[in-house]
Amino acid sequence: MSTIRQIEPDVHGGPPPNLVDYDEGRERFSWEQARATLDGLPGGRGLNIAHEAVVRHVEHGRGDVVALRWRGRDGTARDITYRELDEESGRFANALAALGVEPGDVVVTLLGRVPQLYATVIGTLRHRAVLSPLLSVFGPEPIRQRIDLAAARVLVTTPSLYRRRIAPMRDELSSLRHVILVGEGDVPAGAVAWDAVVGAAEPVHRIPPTRPDDLALLHFTSGTTGLPKGAMHVHEAVVAHGATGSMVLDLRPGDVYWCTADPGWVTGTSYGIVAPLVHGVTSVIDEGDFEAGRWYELLERERVDVWYTAPTAVRMLMKAGPEPRAGRDLSALRLVASVGEPLHPEAVLWGEEVLGLPIRDNWWQTETGGIMVANYRCLPVRPGSMGRPLPGIEAVLLARDEHGEVVLDAAGEPVTVTEPDREGELALRAGWPSMFRGYLGQPERYARCFAGPWYRTGDLARRDADGWFWFAGRADDVIKSAGHLIGPTEVEQALLAHPAVTDAGVIGVPDPVAGEVVKAFVSLAAGFEPSDELRLELIGFARTRLGPAVAPRALAFDQHLPTTRSGKIMRRVLKARELGLSEGDLSTLESGGPDQEVAR
Ligand code: AMP
Repeated sequence: MSTIRQIEPDVHGGPPPNLVDYDEGRERFSWEQARATLDGLPGGRGLNIAHEAVVRHVEHGRGDVVALRWRGRDGTARDITYRELDEESGRFANALAALGVEPGDVVVTLLGRVPQLYATVIGTLRHRAVLSPLLSVFGPEPIRQRIDLAAARVLVTTPSLYRRRIAPMRDELSSLRHVILVGEGDVPAGAVAWDAVVGAAEPVHRIPPTRPDDLALLHFTSGTTGLPKGAMHVHEAVVAHGATGSMVLDLRPGDVYWCTADPGWVTGTSYGIVAPLVHGVTSVIDEGDFEAGRWYELLERERVDVWYTAPTAVRMLMKAGPEPRAGRDLSALRLVASVGEPLHPEAVLWGEEVLGLPIRDNWWQTETGGIMVANYRCLPVRPGSMGRPLPGIEAVLLARDEHGEVVLDAAGEPVTVTEPDREGELALRAGWPSMFRGYLGQPERYARCFAGPWYRTGDLARRDADGWFWFAGRADDVIKSAGHLIGPTEVEQALLAHPAVTDAGVIGVPDPVAGEVVKAFVSLAAGFEPSDELRLELIGFARTRLGPAVAPRALAFDQHLPTTRSGKIMRRVLKARELGLSEGDLSTLESGGPDQEVAR
């Protein structure tokens, strides 16, 4: 039998990990204990993320610790302490109250990594309003849909984003009552400047009683069909952010931590804002975009201890070669972790060679609210594996029939795959604190996520004989491009709005850096002929509506798109054709499976 290559945990030195022994940790762990490491609101008034993340540190005399070490695009730098964040978020909460915003109302952010983002997030949670972050690279269409679905009351953005993306459709955004603009620029009618409304508010703010199951965050995610889904998360999620920050990211007082995730994505909130603040560490906030030289310099200069990044970023660093890394002292690094897409074995090993540490993959998704499967500091790394379930989390693989339905036994219970290295749908026993509590306004879609006691993740995976999980592909047609989850329907609908397009099918095709890129196949209306000009026009049309992160990168004309009898585009057939495979081959290809023979 071939042995699975693994990197032993003890060769990298540093203090002992927070989770010292995985098996013992699993046995001993309880969510009640994890909850007990938090403070709760004083006087038994409940549990609020903002209190755990910011206010309690000030109350415990840690107000002078730097919470955010902000590094601006233009070279400016600003350190923001826990006390300052307490005050600025208190101002934001008081400003919301003054504007008449009610607890439960939705506040949307369309912001890059600017200091006001952090005060907005924490201030919204203090007020018991619901935060819904949007990606600032979204075009007008995804923004409009999400603001509408959320019935958002408040939007916080910049004058420039407002002018380009919001102003032209402001009349359509009927739920919006207040637009708060951050930073330099004109403040048009219908919007207010941050300095005028937040800057002028009182910094002292007392968090009102908050129930653990009060709504806190609304994260939009994409499915295969229909509109985006708003996954609803509650204040109790902070218990999981605290526990995973400790057990997976190994955060401890005094750490400098850097999470590269976009703040418009769930990782950017849960692990870019909440988890590090809960642990009272200092987060480096880099406003700029990826640039290999600057990233290495930042790791060295800020003496980053724990770095949480993503496979696309790792692949971009790998592509940049050794030159930008040369001469940089990265000895402060204790843990490098990655999430969001498959992390290939080569990338794990590259980490060990170039950063001095294997990159520790972990797995979770918008709905789970926090990390669920991970490679821990205390365990060996098996390159290509996403690791083992978090203590407190029971993960299984559900058997599926040829239609993708969960197989039930005679008693009507879901059948789990018990044999090692066999594929099944990754499922988690429902009930952990950061589990989403529904899709906003779509109870049937939520109900469909469960089979008996199991939450179905929609991902296919295998488990090896020792309990390590290996990602094997999505069970549906959603696309993962540079870490963004993209619903093919959203892209198809944008293309169908062009008069030349009568039918559209959208798939992800492999890309060496982004993992997958979006490719569209379109049928043309009578009177239109395929041409390079039309191809560019359609890509440009989709880009203007959807933004560059979601729009197709490639487009092909096809007057005979494969459809089911009911007329639905068969994306898997498109994909198999694109890759020159049969549909059966496609399933095999998507299931990389345990990599038994990775060379170091
Ligand atoms: P999102 O909800 O946008 O965070 O996307 C979640 C999806 O990203 C998961 O359901 C997986 O398909 C994929 N994903 C997340 N982490 C990993 C990982 N470590 N390996 C492979 N795929 C991942």
